[in-house]
Formats: sequence, structure tokens, C-alpha cells
Amino acid sequence: MSVPDSVVGDEMKQAKEIEDAEKYSFMATVTKAPKKQIQFADDMQEFSKFPTKTGRRSLSRSISQSSTDSYSSAASYTDSSDDEVSPREKQQTNSKGSSNFCVKNIKQAEFGRREIEIAEQDMSALISLRKRAQGEKPLAGAKIVGCTHITAQTAVLIETLCALGAQCRWSACNIYSTQNEVAAALAEAGVAVFAWKGESEDDFWWCIDRCVNMDGWQANMILDDGGDLTHWVYKKYPNVFKKIRGIVEESVTGVHRLYQLSKAGKLCVPAMNVNDSVTKQKFDNLYCCRESILDGLKRTTDVMFGGKQVVVCGYGEVGKGCCAALKALGAIVNITEIDPICALQACMDGFRVVKLNEVIRQVDVVITCTGNKNVVTREHLDRMKNSCIVCNMGHSNTEIDVTSLRTPELTWERVRSQVDHVIWPDGKRVVLLAEGRLLNLSCSTVPTFVLSITATTQALALIELYNAPEGRYKQDVYLLPKKMDEYVASLHLPSFDAHLTELTDDQAKYLGLNKNGPFKPNYYRY
Ligand code: NAD
Repeated sequence: MSVPDSVVGDEMKQAKEIEDAEKYSFMATVTKAPKKQIQFADDMQEFSKFPTKTGRRSLSRSISQSSTDSYSSAASYTDSSDDEVSPREKQQTNSKGSSNFCVKNIKQAEFGRREIEIAEQDMSALISLRKRAQGEKPLAGAKIVGCTHITAQTAVLIETLCALGAQCRWSACNIYSTQNEVAAALAEAGVAVFAWKGESEDDFWWCIDRCVNMDGWQANMILDDGGDLTHWVYKKYPNVFKKIRGIVEESVTGVHRLYQLSKAGKLCVPAMNVNDSVTKQKFDNLYCCRESILDGLKRTTDVMFGGKQVVVCGYGEVGKGCCAALKALGAIVNITEIDPICALQACMDGFRVVKLNEVIRQVDVVITCTGNKNVVTREHLDRMKNSCIVCNMGHSNTEIDVTSLRTPELTWERVRSQVDHVIWPDGKRVVLLAEGRLLNLSCSTVPTFVLSITATTQALALIELYNAPEGRYKQDVYLLPKKMDEYVASLHLPSFDAHLTELTDDQAKYLGLNKNGPFKPNYYRY
């Protein structure tokens, strides 16, 4: 194995970025936070860092498949088939007489309001940001056009933006993920929302268009999740970019598209990549998967984990989260890894590191978390024991070679929603979950607290881009600086009554740190 020669260079680059961060002025609107000041750096990241085409979120599919890599929480509780009339055909008004929205059924608003209130309980950081910045209205004059999942959690974000002074027009980034009752509650509260669960492709673009194309109203900020909205504005209304102060993008795919635009010299406004902030990545990958792997498995199979033989492929952030949860329930966990560092970590954490071939005959559950393709092949599937459960927690549905199971000698039996028994000629069954798509996002929900972190980051990114003096941000994609990550984390600490220790002047000097952070260099791995 050769020694990488770029290490020293990379570290120097990171150190330079931190030094640069100090040049930027404070984000005045949120500095009411005690003892914290937020700065932004012009951390430009390499385009090539984002290799994914379809992203990893597949709770439900967007038309363009571009938004499959961002969160939606629970599906709508209200059935989209309760009324066959398209919302586009309906005349609806809210209680104030406004018809500036298009939702499934405005009468569901009260129910949606309760959902939003429940979400608020676990989004206290966002609520506290709302309260801290409410007096100053840092988004006064901001006209935000948004395209995200429309769920109770995003409603808390949208209402926070409105409370901070913004006007919002919103559509859904995914045709299936809208909680109809939540959309109704937003419309009732006066938000121009155009979304319902089960939109057609035409509806999808119509809703986006209704948000952008409005007489007497022109957006000056974009909040996108997947890049479809940004793409639509580029395609149909390029002049709108004359007024746009910035784009905030949440998903892997959308960020990838922005870097492509930037590389081609076509990005005409500054953009913030919130997908790659440390807090989001850690909570998304490690903690969210630790919370949701068992939920997804239990909802689909009712399996008991104590004493079960499990193999987890990949011991990265997602794998570590899954393994921690499985171990806690008494499962016997084996790991496969290609990377010696992650393999050694697995050993230190008390797991056996094996090759999949070595254990495939005896394991009860196989979970892939690599982001790679063909990790579980037809050969592995052929050798699995009867009733072995196979599922994927990694990006899209490439990790398990599901296509290889579509052969005439195998019978597929749909036994439950998201559960297929694939039956071999000798009667052996393999239990395939969510057809190899992400298990947790297909079969369980995402904790509200995780979404709170993302939403807080999005709100701060919007505030910064909107308030930044001209010239601070150029026509490029910016990664959120560490100070902002730290601020997002600090806003979430009161939920746990966590008390942070403050550096003394002497200690700060000794460590060469500013007492208010950032506390770690960009290359720190947490
Ligand atoms: P990571 O890079 O930290 O970990 C992946 C690990 O898999 C690495 O250690 C790598 O060495 C290993 N690996 C690669 N190919 C392998 C192979 N053939 N066999 C065994 N190990 C192999 O990435 P991560 O943050 O853990 O994310 C993993 C995947 O999960 C990504 O696709 C990511 O998009 C997705 N993800 C899913 C969720 C979710 O909610 N389900 C959340 C975040 C990320």
C-alpha cells in the first residue's frame, strides 16, 4: 500500500481556510446567542467530492429522481385517494379569504396544525432561533421560493422563516412525501404553498412554476432540496437570477448539480451547500441510522435480534450506527470492510471482521451500508440460508444485486408492504426488504430532532446569504464554516440541559483558539 502524498498539502489547505474564516464579519442577526458569534468562510469544495447521481434518499421518488437524497419524515396520515378531483381543479380559500395556494384539502388545516405543534416539541433549537432573531427580523424583505419535502418538520422551518420576516412560496420536492394536512395548515396560516401527496409529473412542475411565476412578486432567495427548483428557474426564468441573492441547497444531488453549474461557469449567484455540514452529516448518517435501523427491520419483519447472527457490510458512519444499535439488542455482529482503518475500528469496537463469503451461509440478517454497488451478489443470495433477511441502508438500490433475482426460476411473493419473499426452486426463501432501497427511509420514519438540525442550518444559511454585504460571496458554492456548525450544535444543547465548559483566557491562548470558536480545524474528524 503506498503512502498518500497529498496529506500534508491537504492539511495546509484546511489550515488556510480557517485562517480565512477570521476575515469574515459576524452574522449580525444571530449573534444574540450568548457568547457565540458566527462567521462564514469561503470554503470552496471540490466538485468531485459528490459522486452520486441519484442521491441516497428514496422514501419516495421525485419526478426527476433528483430529490431522493433528502429527508422526508412520516408519510401523510390523510389518504391522497380520498378525493379524485385534482387540487388544480378545486376552488379553495382559507379562513381569511385567500386562495393563494393549492393543496389537497384546506379543511385538513386544523389536523395539520396539531402535527406541526408536535414537531415543534423536538425542534426547540429552531424555535429558539425564531425567538432570538424575531425582534431583528433578519429576513425582512426576503422573498424565499422553496422546494422541499412538505412535512410537519419543514413547516416549522417555513414558519420560522416567516417569523423572521420572509415571505415564502413553497412547493414539494417529491411527488409522494407531502403531508396534505400540513400543507393545508401552512395555507391556512397564509403561506403560498402548492403541493399535495401524489402529484403527477405535470403537477410537480406546475406547482414549482406557480411558486416562481407570480405577478408582482419576485423571489430573491432560493431554498432547494434536490435542485429541481433551481433547474426550473435556470430553464424558464433566468432573469429571476438578477434579483436572487443566494441559493441554499440541502441534498447531495442538488449540491452536485450546483458544483456542475459552477464548474461550467454558469452559476450566477452564490450558493450554500448545507448537505456537508458536520452536524448534518453526523446526525444523518451515524445517529439517525442508529435510531432507525431497528425500527425499519422490526416494522417489516417483527424479528427479534437477541442472539441473531448479523453481517453489516461497511463500517463507515452508517455502519457504525447500525452496529451500535444491533449490538445493544444482543445480536452477534460481523462486519465486512475494504478499508483497514474502518476494519480496525470495528475490531476495537468488538466486532468480527469477515469476508461476506465466510459467513453468508450462517447469518440471519445481511445489511449493506457501503454506498458501493454489487456488495451482495446473486452468488451470495444463492448461498444464504432459509429466511435470511436482506436489506440496504446505503445510497440508492445498487448495493444488493436485486436485478439478478428477477429470473424465471425464482418466485417473488409480496408478503407485506415493502417485504418480498424471493423463493428458490427448493423452497428456500430470502426476505428482501424495500426491494433493496434504503430501509429506514422506505419503512420507518426519521427522527424530528435530526430534521431540526438540518432545518436550523438551512435557516442560518439563508440569513447569512441574504444579509451578506456585496462581494462577500461570489458566484460559487460555499460550504458552511465550522463556526456555523458549532452554532447549530450549541442551539441544540439546551434540549439536553447540557452545560458547555468555557475556555479560560489562559487555556485559549495555550491551545491557540478563539474563546468563541471555531474549536476544531476543518480537517478534524470528530
Ligand atoms: P462511509 O464512507 O463513511 O462508509 C462506507 C464504508 O463502506 C466505508 O468505510 C467503505 O470503506 C466501506 N465499503 C465500501 N465498499 C465496500 C465493500 N464492497 N464491502 C465492504 N465495505 C465497503 O459512508 P456512510 O456515511 O457510512 O454512508 C454509507 C451509505 O449510506 C452512503 O451511500 C450514504 O449516502 C448512505 N446514507 C444513508 C443514510 C440513511 O438514512 N439510510 C443516511 C446517511 C447516509
